[in-house]
Amino acid sequence: MTGRLAGKTAIVTGSSSGIGEGIARRFAAEGASVVTNSRSMERAEATAESIRDSGNTAVAAEADVSEKAEVEALVDAAVSEFGSLDVMVNNAGISHIDPVLEMPEEEWRRVIDVNLTGPFFGSQVAGERMAEQGDGGQIINISSIFGSIGVQGRAPYNASKGGLNNLTRNLAVELAEYDVGVNALAPGFIKTALDEQTREEKEGEDEDVDRSDRPWPRYGYEDGDIRDRVPLDRFGSTEEMANCATFLAEGDHYMTGEVIHADGGWLAFGWGSKGR
Ligand code: NAD
Repeated sequence: MTGRLAGKTAIVTGSSSGIGEGIARRFAAEGASVVTNSRSMERAEATAESIRDSGNTAVAAEADVSEKAEVEALVDAAVSEFGSLDVMVNNAGISHIDPVLEMPEEEWRRVIDVNLTGPFFGSQVAGERMAEQGDGGQIINISSIFGSIGVQGRAPYNASKGGLNNLTRNLAVELAEYDVGVNALAPGFIKTALDEQTREEKEGEDEDVDRSDRPWPRYGYEDGDIRDRVPLDRFGSTEEMANCATFLAEGDHYMTGEVIHADGGWLAFGWGSKGR
């Protein structure tokens, strides 16, 4: 197998859809042996099967990233199938939208468990394996621009991603001893199921509760809101995120502990609206 990631084994958590699926497909096309993952074996296998149908290499493994024993089984599956683990992509993520004063405790805990504790377990277990192998490795945490800013209705998501950014720096410092690079890729708005879910929650909320007298009547967004806020004037694509992840996975960059924003200029744009 040839390609930029030939000879490497990679796990991509949450790769049954969206950004994770795009990364898994691209890594496999670049010659990596890929382990796809989801909480459902059926959904993980659907991505793996379609990668194999394209003539590339993938197996599926079911695991909930918020359960350490399941993450250990995921890493074991990669090593027993392909003999090593070189790249760990902690991509699985969820959101819950509610005003902070109404945020249910269980939703706060669920988002933190999946988005922050999940990558901690993923990095800990993968890092241990990479240290044992003695050949370095790359860990890529999929963060968000929301890890660097406040946005109404998204306290657990934004806290999880802000925590993930600094977890990335801490892991980079500690795992450098084993030549394991740790970086975060922080996307802006990408068209995926998570993006769709945010729209639906907004529509549901608008039907149930009149928020028109609140300082933040809207928790969701429409395409036009994003275009108005993004200098590049469009959403990003899963293929573009996969390009960034491939560069990080190659490991030929002297970068560790970085948070790379791929956001069409969102964070750079101080004005905040093109005033359409
Ligand atoms: P998505 O909903 O399409 O994909 C999320 C994936 O995670 C799915 O495969 C889902 O099955 C999986 N998943 C959820 N909980 C899991 C768990 N406990 N264990 C294992 N798998 C689990 O969403 P997406 O937009 O592709 O999001 C992927 C990552 O990108 C997330 O971390 C998200 O926060 C981040 N992100 C997305 C955007 C965007 O605009 N779409 C922007 C910034 C960051």
